[in-house]
Amino acid sequence: MPELPEVETVRRGLEPAMEGARFAKVEVHRGDLRWPLPADFAKRLEGSTVTGLGRRAKYLLADLSSGDVLIMHLGMSGSFHVFGKERQSTPGAYYHERSKHVAHDHVVFHMSSGAIVTFNDPRRFGSMKLVKRAKLDDEPLLRGLGPEPLGNAFDAAMLALACKGKKTSLKAALLDQRIVAGLGNIYVCEALYLSRLSPKRLASTIATKSGAPNERAERLVESIKRVLNDAIKAGGSSLRDHKLTDGGLGMFQHNFRVYDREGEKCRTPGCGGTVKRIVQNGRSTFYCPSCQK
Ligand SMILES: [Zn+2]
Repeated sequence: MPELPEVETVRRGLEPAMEGARFAKVEVHRGDLRWPLPADFAKRLEGSTVTGLGRRAKYLLADLSSGDVLIMHLGMSGSFHVFGKERQSTPGAYYHERSKHVAHDHVVFHMSSGAIVTFNDPRRFGSMKLVKRAKLDDEPLLRGLGPEPLGNAFDAAMLALACKGKKTSLKAALLDQRIVAGLGNIYVCEALYLSRLSPKRLASTIATKSGAPNERAERLVESIKRVLNDAIKAGGSSLRDHKLTDGGLGMFQHNFRVYDREGEKCRTPGCGGTVKRIVQNGRSTFYCPSCQK
């Protein structure tokens, strides 16, 4: 499943094609995505202009001149392809290769910029939804989400307070979208590794009894921001030579520090440990038992 850096990279890739452009024509080939698209989906979009393309957690939010907001989620296997006049691209930095089979192009946006944006999703766990801008605060998909990990509201004090007294593992706490929004399995593993904290450690141990942050909380927040920023930077740079016609470039080879490296040598200088895989809450956790305490 695409994580926050992938979604942010997609947002940046779609921005030049969509922002400031009008939906000239919208085709819906299959409306039964994760939820069915409303019957008037195309009609509500056509003629309106995208005034801004933002992101909240793993949702893309297109602000429209009509007063609607188009909420889009990539799901498990969704991707956007942009067909421009001169070049084609598949914005995003995907660990798993994306489908380019036209049979899975469920929604097609013809933008006034001349760009054609297709939403491709073989498994159809992706979703699109139109909500009134004025009602966005009540939107169930977004309500209750914790702060953005790259925003200023996410800091050691906030995270420590949220973990105060928590008897769950630190990894489970970081995957809890109410505590921090948009973090997934890969970047939680990476951030815990970088901060040298064990994923099995109790969440409460990054805070004092009164909920003040200790040094672990400071290190963890710094590591989370760093792994996400690094990944966005790497994804962004892969955009430039992304070509739809070249299958090999559809997959972004991220140089993970610990994720998916079971049995391999720990990359921390002087550690000498071996990366281990355990299962926590049904998901694989990769970590180094020697330097993550
Ligand atoms: Zn190590």
